[in-house]
Amino acid sequence: MSKSKPFNIQCPSCRMQQDVELYDAVNISTNPELKKLLMENHLNRVGCIGCEASFRVDMPLLYTDPQNNVMIHWIPETAELTKDQIIEDFDKSLEQLNELLPPDVVAPRVRLVLSRVELVELIFMIEANMNQRVVEYVKYSIYTRNAEKTDPEKFRLLLNVQDSTDEELCFVLQNVETQELGKGLRYGRSAYQSMCELYEEAPEEFVEMFPGPCISARNLLLEDLADA
Ligand SMILES: [Zn+2]
Repeated sequence: MSKSKPFNIQCPSCRMQQDVELYDAVNISTNPELKKLLMENHLNRVGCIGCEASFRVDMPLLYTDPQNNVMIHWIPETAELTKDQIIEDFDKSLEQLNELLPPDVVAPRVRLVLSRVELVELIFMIEANMNQRVVEYVKYSIYTRNAEKTDPEKFRLLLNVQDSTDEELCFVLQNVETQELGKGLRYGRSAYQSMCELYEEAPEEFVEMFPGPCISARNLLLEDLADA
């Protein structure tokens, strides 16, 4: 079920306090119109009653796609809540949840993302029936092979499903700080498909590299850097 709740927020432009209704859960089977809003960057967008500024309020959101049996939690990073903390807390609560599940129940795929762009990217991937772990593996090799231009501290590498073709997957670099989109990078789809075949034969290696619920080459690289 989709769910909205009242919140009291402050306009970032004029500082006026106001009551608004924001979604913290979106089920796209019951409310496909909310998915459309999310994809168009209109979900949880507020028009200030004081100064008419338009701004998006980011807060934890649960995106459920029952048809594809997937639940994606978007938990935005904030100054108080760092990426590492979010992932650690989430792992703990997921473990507790799995312990409560009866053994004969097939748990839905649970995913964690930390930004709206990653949520939208993942939705496109799921709907195009792409293998997220293989895509992140491809990103990992792009990051490591172009280390100078694709510093994971500065850039997020996103798959652009819509602009990808039968021949090529299209990736784009996003500056994490300014959100600006930069250079596009292309990757042969046949190489991706060969890797999907490898995955079918031996998924363990990919799962070991990206156990989830946060499946992200960038996070893996940042962890490696932190450990180095
Ligand atoms: Zn305002």
